[in-house]
Amino acid sequence: MDKNDRKITRENAADRITFAGEIFTIGERLQKEKILKELPKKWSDLHINGDIHIHDLDAYGMTYNCLAFVISNSFPYKDVEHYSSIGKIIFLFSYLQEFLTKLGNEQSGGMGFANFDNDIAETIHNMGLSLEDINQEVLRSSIRTFILWCNNSHERLGKVSYYVTLNLGLASNELARVICYTVLDEFSKTSVKTYKPNIVFKVSNAVNARKGTKNYDLFQKALTTTTKKMIPTYVLTDSEPNKLVDPNELVIMGCRTRVVDNKYGKKTSIGRGNITNISINLPRLAYRTIKNGDIDIDVFYSNLSEMFKEVSKILEHRFDMIVRNRTKNDFNLNSEKDIWLKSFKDNSLEDIFINGTLSVGFIGLSETVEVLTGKKFYIDPKSYELSKNIVSKMRTHIDDLTKTTKFNYSLLATSGEQISGRFTELDIKAGYIHPVTDKGYYTNSFHVDVDSGLSTFEKIEKEAPFHLMSNGGCITYLELHEAPINNEKALEELLMFALDKGIHYMGFNYELDYCNDCGHKGLFDSCPKCGSNKITRIRRVSGYLEIVDYFTKGKANEEKNRKRNSLS
Ligand SMILES: [Zn+2]
Repeated sequence: MDKNDRKITRENAADRITFAGEIFTIGERLQKEKILKELPKKWSDLHINGDIHIHDLDAYGMTYNCLAFVISNSFPYKDVEHYSSIGKIIFLFSYLQEFLTKLGNEQSGGMGFANFDNDIAETIHNMGLSLEDINQEVLRSSIRTFILWCNNSHERLGKVSYYVTLNLGLASNELARVICYTVLDEFSKTSVKTYKPNIVFKVSNAVNARKGTKNYDLFQKALTTTTKKMIPTYVLTDSEPNKLVDPNELVIMGCRTRVVDNKYGKKTSIGRGNITNISINLPRLAYRTIKNGDIDIDVFYSNLSEMFKEVSKILEHRFDMIVRNRTKNDFNLNSEKDIWLKSFKDNSLEDIFINGTLSVGFIGLSETVEVLTGKKFYIDPKSYELSKNIVSKMRTHIDDLTKTTKFNYSLLATSGEQISGRFTELDIKAGYIHPVTDKGYYTNSFHVDVDSGLSTFEKIEKEAPFHLMSNGGCITYLELHEAPINNEKALEELLMFALDKGIHYMGFNYELDYCNDCGHKGLFDSCPKCGSNKITRIRRVSGYLEIVDYFTKGKANEEKNRKRNSLS
C-alpha cells in the first residue's frame, strides 16, 4: 500500500499501521468485497448505497460481536497451587492479558468485565489468598501494568488495542474495594496518553451513590478520576431503564452496547453479547419521504417498517451462517473457558448464541426530524414529539421481532463513528442535498446537535426519554468547557439529576490537549508553558477516547463543530 491508500483505509479511529496490520487490512477489504458479492444483491446494494450499514462486515457469518463475562469461574486455579502469594498475583494479571488476547481474536468487538473489582477479588480469594496475604505494592504494580497493556498493546489484528471495558463500583468486600480504588487511582495517575481500558462505574443508590453508603468513597474517587481523564463513564443502575435489573448483572460494553432482556432466561448481561448489528440511515428515509416538496409522514413510517423487515432478514441470515458454518473449534477460548450463559459442553452454537442479541441501530435522528419538519427537535415542541414517536415506532418494530422470531432483538442508539460521515457522503452522492448535509456528518443516535448550545441540564432532559426506548444501548454525553478539576460536586449533581430523569448511561467530555515536549496539559493551540507545537489532542469518539489525528473524516468534522453545554 502507498501512503494514500493507508489514509483511505483508515475506517476506524483506533487504527494504527504495522506490517501485520496492513496485511490484515488487505484481507479485510477482500473479505468485505467477497461478502458483498455473495449476499443477495438487494442486501449488498442497501449497504453499498448507504441505506444501511452492516457493521463488522468482514466478520459476516464468522463470529459474534461482543461479550460480557466473569473470569473467576474458569481461572486455572490448579496451575498456581504451588505459587507464592506474590507469584499468584503476578500470574493472575498476566493471565488476564492472555485471556483478552485470545478472546479478542475470536470475536469482532468489545470485551466487558462484568464486575472487575468483585471478579478479581473472588479469583484471588479462590487462590487461597486474603487481603492480609497480599503484597499491596505487587497488586498495585500489576494493576498499573495491566492498564498500560490495555492502552499500549496494538496486538489486535496487528494494528489496534483491544476493546476492553472494566465495569466496577459495586465492590462487596474489602479486597474488592481495594481493587476498585487502585484501578481508579492508577488510571488517574497515568499520562493523558493513556486512555484505555474503558472504565464504567456502576452507580447504585444502595451501594455507592449516597452519603453513608459503603462505597460512597469509591464513587467520589471515580468522579475525581473523570475530572482528570474523562473516564470512567457512569451507568445509573437505579434509573428507569435499569431499575428492574440486578446491578451486578448489568454490564456496559465500551461502545455502549447493552444486552439485558432475554426471552430464554433472566435479565442479565453476563455470559451474553451482541451477535451482530446493522444501523439504518434514518435521514435517507426522511429524504425519500419528500415528494414534490410535500412530506407524508405515513410514507416515512411505512418505509421505516419495510426497512426493519429487510434488516431483520439480514441479521437472521448472518446469525444462521455463524451457527451453521462454524464449529466450537472456531471459538477455542470461548469453549475452553466456557464463559457464555449456556455451556459449550452440552449445547450447540445455536443454543449458546441465541442468548445474544441482534441489534438494529440508528443515527441522525436530529437531521431526520429537521428534514421532516424544518426544525430542530430539541427546540420545537412538535418536532420533539415527532422525534419520540419515531424512536418509539422503531422500538415497537424491535419488540414485534422479538415476539415473532426466536431472537432477542434490541434497539441500539448507534455511536456511528464509522458511519456518521459515510452516510452523509453517500446521501450527497445520491442527490439528497439538504442544509443538514452541509456539515459533512450526521449526529449520533438520538443526540441533540453537537453545537446545540443547550445547558447540561437541558441536554439531559431532552435526551432522557430515548434511553428507555433504546434497550440495546445508548449514552448521553455532556460536553464541558474544560476539565472540571476539583469540581466533583458538579458531576455528582448532574449524575443525580440524570438518574432522576431516566438516563441509563452518561459520560462527560471535555477537550484535553497534551504537550509532547513538556507534558503540560489543558486546552491550547500551542503550549502556553514551553511554546511547543507538538500537541496531542485527546477527544472521545463513540465510546472510546482517541487521539484526534486518528479520527475518521466524519468524526473530525463533528469534532470541529462541537459546542460546550454550559453547567447552568
Ligand atoms: Zn510544553
